[in-house]
Amino acid sequence: MSTPPRYRGRFVPTPNGPLHLGSLLAALGSWLLARSAGGEWWVRMEDLDPPREVAGAAEQQLATQAALGLHSDAAVAWQSRRGAQYAQALDQLLAEGKAFACHCSRQDLAASAGIHRSCVPRKRRTDPAIRLRVADATMITFEDALQGRVTQDVASEVGDFVLRRADGPWAYQLAVVVDDGAQGMSHVVRGADLLDSTPRQILLQQALGLPTPRYLHLPVVVDAGGHKLSKSSNAPAVSIHEPVASLTAAWQMLGQDSAALGRPAGVEQLLQTAAHAFQAQRLPRRAAVPVAAPHNAGYAKPV
Ligand code: GLU
Repeated sequence: MSTPPRYRGRFVPTPNGPLHLGSLLAALGSWLLARSAGGEWWVRMEDLDPPREVAGAAEQQLATQAALGLHSDAAVAWQSRRGAQYAQALDQLLAEGKAFACHCSRQDLAASAGIHRSCVPRKRRTDPAIRLRVADATMITFEDALQGRVTQDVASEVGDFVLRRADGPWAYQLAVVVDDGAQGMSHVVRGADLLDSTPRQILLQQALGLPTPRYLHLPVVVDAGGHKLSKSSNAPAVSIHEPVASLTAAWQMLGQDSAALGRPAGVEQLLQTAAHAFQAQRLPRRAAVPVAAPHNAGYAKPV
């Protein structure tokens, strides 16, 4: 068996619209951390929830990444094709009594602010959700490489959480843990909006006997009103016509020295220079940074 690499990282976009500057920050940040460590960088498409996806968005995002020179080191994995692996993990948890079928409705859980600690269904469903059983006072602590120490009482703050939704789809938490494990990810670099999901993922890794990767949560990009850039806030798509400007904007928002890039002839040259010039200690140690338009990237400052 070949030894797994010291560093294997990933970028896991959701195909709910075009790639925007917020997702580019996670893409470039995870790529830079992987490359500057001499590691691999894999892309996995989080196409778990077809009704919320936009037709063609996944292909469009991959085309934008290609135009930016961000190429996956392995064939792109599609979560929509990995149901058998998720089912196997779920069966294991059910067989070991670590997961259970839950007939509660949202309304049933309204009294406990949506936090599930014990079943209180008023009627049985034909399509129950499957939840992970979280023991009382389950405290998870981890050291985020950028945001510092994070501790969560998963039982009281989250409760027994969903692994497969009542309406059928696999929950993000299960899919991401199964895939990070199956793909041998050593490092997870993503937006800080997922910081409070990480204790759930660590708990699930422990339940499935999977190793816990190292985590680094980058700041999310917010608009002038302080809202995370996303499709719903009509974040402008990253232009494939100005790839150098887009990468430069993301580079600056990652706290890096724009002078270090010089005047790159194209994306390949820019990325090569960036991988060498990248300084992890310059990453903004905060949960959010304001958006910088590619044409005025010089104004990007951490908030
Ligand atoms: N799909 C998530 C996002 O776009 C990232 C999931 C992950 O990296 O674990 O924010």
